[in-house]
Amino acid sequence: MGVNSDIKSNVARVLEVVERTAARSGRRRESIKLVAVSKTVEVERVRQALEAGVTHIGENRVQEGMAKKPQLADLSMIFHLIGPLQKNKANKAVETFDWIETLDSVELAAKVNQACERLNKTLPVLIEINIGNESSKSGIPEVQVPDLLRQMSGFIRLSIQGLMTVPPYFENPEEVRPYFVRLRELSRRMADLKVENVSMTELSMGMSHDYPIAIEEGATIVRVGTAIFGAR
Ligand SMILES: *Cc1c(COP(=O)(O)O)cnc(C)c1O
Repeated sequence: MGVNSDIKSNVARVLEVVERTAARSGRRRESIKLVAVSKTVEVERVRQALEAGVTHIGENRVQEGMAKKPQLADLSMIFHLIGPLQKNKANKAVETFDWIETLDSVELAAKVNQACERLNKTLPVLIEINIGNESSKSGIPEVQVPDLLRQMSGFIRLSIQGLMTVPPYFENPEEVRPYFVRLRELSRRMADLKVENVSMTELSMGMSHDYPIAIEEGATIVRVGTAIFGAR
């Protein structure tokens, strides 16, 4: 079996799991976006995933996204930045990506908002939460989210759509479930604040290892790399 059919069958399998898990959880399939995470994956294989029916692609480095995007210009693709963003790369990130999932400070949000103004663009964004309070992870702690949302409310070029997290890793994905629940509950509390220009409809959580559990707990965006492209 060639590389091509591998990616094709991986995509088919993941889409089927998404569909089955949605049905089992009483959720609409259309409420869940599958982002195929293509960091370190060569562009030809990303193309195969798009041809196999993926519509969202995620990269965690601005530079890598910039290099790949023009080579995929003939295909339709919604491009997500899912890795840490430095303030001095805000312009390039806004030029390159359709979603930025990793805003974690008012300074960074201000830079991205400015970049959007310059490019006359409105960008859907997520706030990255360090849900497990791990020193090794990016994202802000839960307690800081209300203030950040209020500060970002005036950034009218940003369409604040919800929250994103990378939870602690556990061999047994069931152990991740409480963190997914936590992000969902945080999202609900933040929605109740009714901050202007803030929508809390998207929850980006779940990776290859645990995305069915994330969907059961309300994920609207799952970011899946290894299960589509193989081990990195
Ligand atoms: C790499 C990465 C993923 C995908 O991880 P897999 O385990 O390969 O599915 C998801 N989210 C982020 C932020 C990543 O960096």
